[in-house]
Amino acid sequence: MFFKLQILYFWLKTKLAYPLRSREAIARWQARRLAVFAKKVLKKSVFYARYWAGKGFDWVAGVPVISKTEFMKNFDDINTQHITYAEALAVALNAEETRDFKSEIKGVTIGLSTGTSGKRGIFLVDARERALWVALVMHRVIKPRLFKKQKVAFFLRANSNLYASVNSALFEFRYFDIFKPLPALLEGMDTFKPAILASPPSILVDIATAQRNKQINIQPTQIISFAEVLHESDRQFIEATFQLKMAEVYQCTEGFLGATCTHGTMHLNEDFVKIEPEWIDNERFYPIITDFSRHSQPVVKYRLNDILQIKKAPCACGSALLAIEKIVGRDDDVLIFGGIKIYPDLISRRIAQSTDAFSQYAIVQTTENTLEIGIESPTEIFEDLKQIFIAVLDKLLQEFGVQSITYSFENQVLHIAGDKIRKIKRLIKN
Ligand SMILES: [Zn+2]
Repeated sequence: MFFKLQILYFWLKTKLAYPLRSREAIARWQARRLAVFAKKVLKKSVFYARYWAGKGFDWVAGVPVISKTEFMKNFDDINTQHITYAEALAVALNAEETRDFKSEIKGVTIGLSTGTSGKRGIFLVDARERALWVALVMHRVIKPRLFKKQKVAFFLRANSNLYASVNSALFEFRYFDIFKPLPALLEGMDTFKPAILASPPSILVDIATAQRNKQINIQPTQIISFAEVLHESDRQFIEATFQLKMAEVYQCTEGFLGATCTHGTMHLNEDFVKIEPEWIDNERFYPIITDFSRHSQPVVKYRLNDILQIKKAPCACGSALLAIEKIVGRDDDVLIFGGIKIYPDLISRRIAQSTDAFSQYAIVQTTENTLEIGIESPTEIFEDLKQIFIAVLDKLLQEFGVQSITYSFENQVLHIAGDKIRKIKRLIKN
């Protein structure tokens, strides 16, 4: 396995080092890759084969933009492995329940995601795609060190064969199941002493807190955040605790979409994913993705619910890959009051400007006019923090012309094991 990875790694290193130094070069590269992808992969998909005309696809007018719901509805016809949704779901649910992690059909790993919307998704990944993913993450994010095997602690929602394949001469991977109670996870990691820590940011905050409280003592040289939006205040807290700059991987079940460069800018992986923006205003967009590295379950013109904000100034690293100022948040992170939308980054920025005395907080919109706010802090400063939050929110809501909002406060942030914890979220449908 290592041999195979090594080949892939060096192959990719050469391939990806190919200078995509201009937008034109990226467009040419994508056009070539898309043509190969259409011929080799999409023609094998019952769903997509019907859009094949003559020598290729009409990418602009022919192939439809697809949502997660439609993607799942057409699961059987979209995938190229002749796996049905019913059998994949049965295998995935069984693996989740028994936690034996053998969720495979015909050598294809079945992944189950609840996603941010809470809707169930089934994803297929085969061995080749796994190796590619590993090579890409290694290439893009992890800095290998020669002559020293590095320990990597990976915090995941559930294990899968995806990650079991990574152990090699360069890395020793240990997987931590975030469904397990936090004290046990912390203890295990403290014994393991990872050099590289890869985890969703909500767990990284817990780890940093434990380090500050001297419950654990680790000295990671690299910290990678993935799977959730990394908020600026969390980044600062984690970076200050461990005295390093974090790397961020923008990855969702649908694919590996981007990573931060050495200058800390998030660049989208346009060398293997075509990203078409569906603009919200002149800065923000919903990405529509076509991943031409996938072949077991083609992800084509798939509309994500993430909101990305484009970076206007070019990045000093010289890459022409689209640079993102930030991932603003998921659709359901946007608070909506009588049709007026308030974006989560605005709220978290205002709060960050006013105070950082909390260890964490969560703002949840539970009805059209109710916000439930949890703040984790020492009890003696909770009342002060509460007043600061009220002042920030009152001012912001007033600016947007939103009135009569009721707040309720708690001196804690409720954790639901394994849930994607987000600072700001909306639990009602408008
Ligand atoms: Zn850059």
